Amino acid sequence: MDHDQTEYFKALLKRMADEILQRGDDAVESMQGGEMAMPDPADRASAESEREFLLSLRQREHTMLRKIREALQRIENGEYGECEECGEPIGVARLKARPVTTLCIQCKQRQEQLETAPGTGRGPQLQRYEF
Ligand SMILES: [Zn+2]
Repeated sequence: MDHDQTEYFKALLKRMADEILQRGDDAVESMQGGEMAMPDPADRASAESEREFLLSLRQREHTMLRKIREALQRIENGEYGECEECGEPIGVARLKARPVTTLCIQCKQRQEQLETAPGTGRGPQLQRYEF
């Protein structure tokens, strides 16, 4: 990965982090406003589940921010764009789609196959018998 590409991804990752932080602030504001405007218990319950939704959203955002920081750290270390499994280049196209990824497409697919492995090999055969 050359210098221009590194700079490109650095800027992209920083922009992603800024957007998440910006959204996070908006969510907190609407959450606080919502509570004050809803004195009814039923409304409070829905405000409560909305709050849970926002919290899980924030958790995901938090995870994303951590991944962005790790990616920026990899850029600083000159490791950005290398697959952490096989050490091969991840590829600029894939990085543009998923700038925080640490796996090349082959390793990612292998990981996904392992995650969904139990029973999957028999899927097509079972279908054939069912119909
Ligand atoms: Zn790999």
